[in-house]
Amino acid sequence: MSWEIVMGLEVHAELSTQSKIFCGCSTEFGAEPNTHVCLGCAGFPGSLPVLNKAVVEYAVRAGLALNCDITKINRFDRKNYFYPDLPSAYQISQLFAPICRNGSLEIETNGEKKQIGIHQIHMEQDAGKLVHEARITMMDFNRSSTPLIEIVTRPDFRSSDEVIAYLEKLREILLYLDVCDCKMQEGSFRADVNLSVRKAGDEKLGVRTEMKNINSFKAIARAIEYESARHIEVLEEGGTLVQETRRWDDDRGQSYSMREKENALDYRYFPDPDLLPIAIDDEWLASIKESLPELAHQKRERYISEYGIAPADTVILTGHKNISNLFEQLVEKGAKATEAANLIVGELMYLMNTTSTLLEDLDISADKLATLISLFTEGKISRAAYKDVVKAVFVDDVCPESYIDEHKLVMVSDTNVIDKVVEAIVANNPKAVTEYKEGKEKAFGFLMGQAMKELGSAGNPDMVRAKLKELL
Ligand code: ZN
Ligand code: MN
Repeated sequence: MSWEIVMGLEVHAELSTQSKIFCGCSTEFGAEPNTHVCLGCAGFPGSLPVLNKAVVEYAVRAGLALNCDITKINRFDRKNYFYPDLPSAYQISQLFAPICRNGSLEIETNGEKKQIGIHQIHMEQDAGKLVHEARITMMDFNRSSTPLIEIVTRPDFRSSDEVIAYLEKLREILLYLDVCDCKMQEGSFRADVNLSVRKAGDEKLGVRTEMKNINSFKAIARAIEYESARHIEVLEEGGTLVQETRRWDDDRGQSYSMREKENALDYRYFPDPDLLPIAIDDEWLASIKESLPELAHQKRERYISEYGIAPADTVILTGHKNISNLFEQLVEKGAKATEAANLIVGELMYLMNTTSTLLEDLDISADKLATLISLFTEGKISRAAYKDVVKAVFVDDVCPESYIDEHKLVMVSDTNVIDKVVEAIVANNPKAVTEYKEGKEKAFGFLMGQAMKELGSAGNPDMVRAKLKELL
């Protein structure tokens, strides 16, 4: 009997606004504990929340990019529960009127496209952080009240590949929108997986378990494999599953029961009396729509149709905003699009890999690279010299023109110079010349190499080849 895995995802994305959702405290990550805290975000009774308008805008941006309907009248609700990282004992969230509903995101796995339904996106505040040390636990409220959007999908996933494809695309969209920095290791992009299994063909969903805050895509894939196998094993042995929240321990490769899963009723949600409803009028919505940037998948389509870039290369060119920005700047500055793409996909990626430079840390002058591409396409420097200078710009931010002068890299296209060198090489290597005339192609390569060596990386290889052929 074959089993089908059914999954839905809840992603919590911390919004990259300067200040928190209901007070003016900074959202900076990694500050000294409890330095970005006021009475409001520390949950003192009597302090009143004031909504940060940017949070609404960011949530709408995400909703529009995910094809959602935007709720015109938004309300906040209190979700009541006790935990030491939540000093007010309730989280301000949205249950009855979430800001975005009925969206979708298209994913692709093994060449097949599929729509994942977005049930809703709601705004809420983050909790503080518990810091465990030896036998004590400390509270850090810097994160308390950092703005979050929670993006909830429909139970549309059937494999870990689909889950990872969705998370990668969602992260790419949020990064391009500039609403979240999506650093899983810093907790600004956290995924909870709701999983159940059923016999293939069944309509009814099985008992689901939820695994929270798994901190890498690879760990998510492992957690899904383990948990689905566990469900199937329990059911095949005639056992019953409990609806519960489980913790994934990636080191041990196992999930553990944390607590029985609460229902919405357990949280005794009710409208927050301290916050007025927020109206999003047509004008505001239109201006947010207007400000949306071109997204990665839209760029990929355009790079193919407008510039004729190979599809595989467009994936690299849009892998991070820093890369697509650089590519577009180079084109804008007059570099040939295909040459700009070759430079980035080839030499630049190679340099970034060998120096372990992260995409988010890429910092290279588009002006200098554009100049270099022109020098190369106009035949002023050879391919070998081009590579040298790209490296020097990448590593030491040198000025391409003076570097080329200093290292005598201007391509020698002077007929007199080249002829002289080639004539000397032919005269001094009679053995190779005879071999070539006897049909040994290799000998030509040898003579070519000798001439190029003599000319340094500045010789024009086409002219050298032509002269050599002529003499032989
Ligand atoms: Zn505060
Ligand atoms: Mn939540």
